[in-house]
Amino acid sequence: MDGARRIVDADVLVEDGRIKSVGRLDRGTVGRSKLTTIACSGLIVLPGLVQAHIHLCQTLFRGLADDLTLENWLAQRIWPLEAAHTEDSVYASAMLGAAELLLGGTTAILDMETVRHTGAAFGALEEIGIRATAGKCLMDAPSNPVGLRESTDKALSDSADLCARWHGTAGGRLRYCFAPRFAPSCTGPLLRAVSDLAEKFGAVVHTHAAETPVELEIVKRETGHDEIAYLDSVGISGPRAALAHCVWVDKDAIARLARHATNVVHCPSSNLKLGSGIAPIPEMLAAGCRVGIGADGAPCNNRLDAFAEMRLAALIQKPRLGPDALPAAQVLELATLGGARAMGLEKEIGSIEVGKCADLVVLDLNGPHAQPEDTDLVSRIVYSAMATDVRHVIVDGQVVVKDGALKTADLKEIRTGANAQARRLRRSAGL
Ligand SMILES: [Zn+2]
Repeated sequence: MDGARRIVDADVLVEDGRIKSVGRLDRGTVGRSKLTTIACSGLIVLPGLVQAHIHLCQTLFRGLADDLTLENWLAQRIWPLEAAHTEDSVYASAMLGAAELLLGGTTAILDMETVRHTGAAFGALEEIGIRATAGKCLMDAPSNPVGLRESTDKALSDSADLCARWHGTAGGRLRYCFAPRFAPSCTGPLLRAVSDLAEKFGAVVHTHAAETPVELEIVKRETGHDEIAYLDSVGISGPRAALAHCVWVDKDAIARLARHATNVVHCPSSNLKLGSGIAPIPEMLAAGCRVGIGADGAPCNNRLDAFAEMRLAALIQKPRLGPDALPAAQVLELATLGGARAMGLEKEIGSIEVGKCADLVVLDLNGPHAQPEDTDLVSRIVYSAMATDVRHVIVDGQVVVKDGALKTADLKEIRTGANAQARRLRRSAGL
């Protein structure tokens, strides 16, 4: 995954968190230098995988909301659980999710938190070392549940404060995004103001769009517009916007997304588990849309595994369009450069190129499921590889996973904290 998609036998030299060179280094010189070396012979070095739609605040809800439609999933489980969150549970949820992501080779995420305690999630992200653009969820419409609804002014002022506090911190590794939940949760004035704020701060707007026909009907009834056109009319379109799902998009909506270079984030597992449908990704790519991938939240997946999403993204299109739809190379691009674009970071991450941030994953494809070895490497990564094949992970030049073990936090402590908080949340939400 360099600019020319070459696969080379090389050393990757990293200095001050950036890729300094890709090529053969003289072994004698390396031996005499003060370089820290990670032996990767026989292994695959990939750019870190990017998931452009995640809800870390929902990691503790895993297994608590199976087999429900999106509307019931939200109203009966997710909203009561989110309303029950405290600083401690948001922190524990973020640590658990980020640990799973890093161990599985995801180095960067676009994350939608809940309405409150987003600072605690940023604290976790800072500590664990993942690259993240995260934002507080915005819900100001009168139809929202009382436990999460906020006034438009409070939603906006809290967002602006969080952005001022966190955007560009940890050496640029952490960024803020403005995150209206979805059009039916937000008033028109909020959406317009969010678009202005994102422009002012140079931040991404991260929301859900066109996930189910019910959602489309609500937006049509309330605004008179198709949802993608409505979001466009309030300024939520263009390279600064990342719209998760876009399952129910017609030709006009696809053309509009492509025309404005709006980012679509494909979440195949979530779309299947909630029965939402299959997003027409090959049609969107053919129209010139920008597309990334994401696992969405733990309760609608139930994993946060980029390898599972890549494989599924390729497979689900094939019964509909034929086995040549969405080949492996295109999928790998969605999970790297596509996600980087959705985060507005395509000049910084998503490929192994000199000058880019050193966000790297080292894969061991020597397991029987990924052999024999003299076959197409990209096919082995997309169709055969698993999260457990990840050996080392580097974010911003920092080794965060070494030999399959998390280096930046104690996994046992994360698990203990997550379980204690999950129990408290379930009691508090009456589940
Ligand atoms: Zn989502």
